[in-house]
Amino acid sequence: MSKFWSSIVHQLDPYTPGEQPKGTNLVKLNTNENPYAPSPKALAAIEAYAGDRLRLYPDPNATDLKKSIADYYGMSINQVFVGNGSDEVLAHIFQGLFQQSKPLLFPDITYSFYTAFCGLYKINYELIPLDNDLTINVSDYVRNNGGIIFPNPNAPTGCLLALNEIESLLKANTESVVVVDEAYIDFGGESAVSLVNYYPNLLVTQTLSKSRSLAGLRIGLAVGHPDLIEALDRVKDSFNSYPLDSLAIVAGIAAFTDVDYFKSTCERVILSRVVWQESSHKWVLR
Ligand SMILES: *Cc1c(COP(=O)(O)O)cnc(C)c1O
Repeated sequence: MSKFWSSIVHQLDPYTPGEQPKGTNLVKLNTNENPYAPSPKALAAIEAYAGDRLRLYPDPNATDLKKSIADYYGMSINQVFVGNGSDEVLAHIFQGLFQQSKPLLFPDITYSFYTAFCGLYKINYELIPLDNDLTINVSDYVRNNGGIIFPNPNAPTGCLLALNEIESLLKANTESVVVVDEAYIDFGGESAVSLVNYYPNLLVTQTLSKSRSLAGLRIGLAVGHPDLIEALDRVKDSFNSYPLDSLAIVAGIAAFTDVDYFKSTCERVILSRVVWQESSHKWVLR
């Protein structure tokens, strides 16, 4: 504590990413890092780029990376935003889209960074209780709100919402932004990116930290209507115009283009969830 602090600093309740032990012979599950290496093509892209060109600033818009992401999802570049990890993308969303007079809604058990952002940006929020089976009931979110956010699948519960449930929420909630945080969608579930062209208030965030094994590079993204993307660009260019460094840009492109490697490591992670179920005498996915 110090008299030199801005008053907001005294009020903050910062996020902590769990215990970060120093040992290297540990499987650390509390930040959900991928056990498999990044795509060899991503590592080769970093090696090929590292050199004299690091004198230069990166492309402030990371256009080539946005193009790879847009191509992967069949979207346009102006529907894609990229940031320094999806935490930074989320920070810009909270500041640029969720500072409203009505309360932001999110589940009472969810990613704990959401409350930290609300503290930082002085956003008033309402926690919506999960159902008894720990699932999100989308009809609970059809009420007065200045925005809605939830991870799908939710973290740390792992419960997944089907796309038609998200769509029914979007049909009922047209006057505020709905953000689906898809940090884990590649491990099972259908991405809501396919709904973006139909719902101008839908924004989907993803990260290369989990399913693409690049947590150390810090690359996150959002896909949504160009007007929502423009809001994020305006916040970004008032905060840090070069959020992605050149190495992250080239490795991110390679990671998004190397679809075969991505699919095979996701498959291996998914298969590691298979367990023997005594009651049905079968191997089932957890
Ligand atoms: C890991 C995680 C993030 C943040 O990912 P980064 O891109 O590494 O910042 C965001 N949301 C959820 C739900 C996560 O689990």
